[in-house]
Amino acid sequence: MNVLIAEDDAPTRMMLQSLLGKWGYTVTSVSDGDEAWRVLNEARKPLLVILDWMMPEVEGPEIVRRLRVKEDGNSHYIIITTSANSENDAVKALDAGADDFVGKPFNLNELRARLAVGRRVTALHQALADKLHKLETASETISRLARTDDLTGLHNRRSFNEFFALALSAARRHDHPLSLISIDLDHFKAVNDTYGHRTGDLVLKEFANLMQEMVRTEDLAVRWGGEEFIIMLTHTACEAAAALAERIRAAFEHNPSSASPLPMTASFGVAQLRDGELEDDLIRRADEALYRAKHEGRNRVAIG
Ligand code: GH3
Ligand code: MG
Ligand code: MG
Ligand code: MG
Repeated sequence: MNVLIAEDDAPTRMMLQSLLGKWGYTVTSVSDGDEAWRVLNEARKPLLVILDWMMPEVEGPEIVRRLRVKEDGNSHYIIITTSANSENDAVKALDAGADDFVGKPFNLNELRARLAVGRRVTALHQALADKLHKLETASETISRLARTDDLTGLHNRRSFNEFFALALSAARRHDHPLSLISIDLDHFKAVNDTYGHRTGDLVLKEFANLMQEMVRTEDLAVRWGGEEFIIMLTHTACEAAAALAERIRAAFEHNPSSASPLPMTASFGVAQLRDGELEDDLIRRADEALYRAKHEGRNRVAIG
């Protein structure tokens, strides 16, 4: 473990350096407060610190105070040393935020034991910080998974609901157009029935990829469930949304899926948000347009 020794008295500094080396510590030593502060701000700073109380430039307690207001300053274990060795000094050092206090001249057994406590506490701090970091990463992963459709990697319905509510209120407040495209693959059951569910899954994945490639990054491509999808387009009026739907329709028809030999197509329903319209009503109008596309013969785009 790395230890910083900040001590202006050269013989004491050298004695500490040699002792700590023998005790298995890796030592950085400095002779004044400015140097100590510089080392404590380096990227690979020592976390265990022996600080002399009286030093040129910046004194020990002041360094402790500065460290403790730093964001990561509480991960340091600091032992203050002084030759005055009065009870009052110990109290002052601990009040300033030091973890421990050792009087000079040193009782070497005591110094070694107190350093060992510092090493234990520092290791514990680090283990805790590591665990916290892992926990944060895991919780990010969980919340990403909670918003993602397993099979296709598209946004799922939960994610759509969150973004949709935000996008709707922004569209209303700034009077921007917002459109939805509701999509359903045509006769998809035939793929499952003829080639099995795994082939069906591959078709869904390929359609999702195609869709994702054709929308803008700010558009939200969603798997609504089964072989149904929805795209939310902010800043987009009905005509532009229908044009995009038509491009996706044509691309899928001409290049349906490498997984299934059956010809594949999809139907699309488009609707643009109206003044004062509720979320569910916009979704319902896009769905109604989709049903119309189905009834009019599938493989087409209908506008609601
Ligand atoms: P239409 O043109 O009227 O939409 O016909 P369709 O066959 O696509 O519609 P239908 O609702 O009859 O069938 C949808 C099929 O989608 C039935 C269901 O088994 C299948 N399906 C739903 N979810 C999945 C899935 O995750 N994977 C696979 N492989 N199939 C799924
Ligand atoms: Mg001194
Ligand atoms: Mg369906
Ligand atoms: Mg279908």
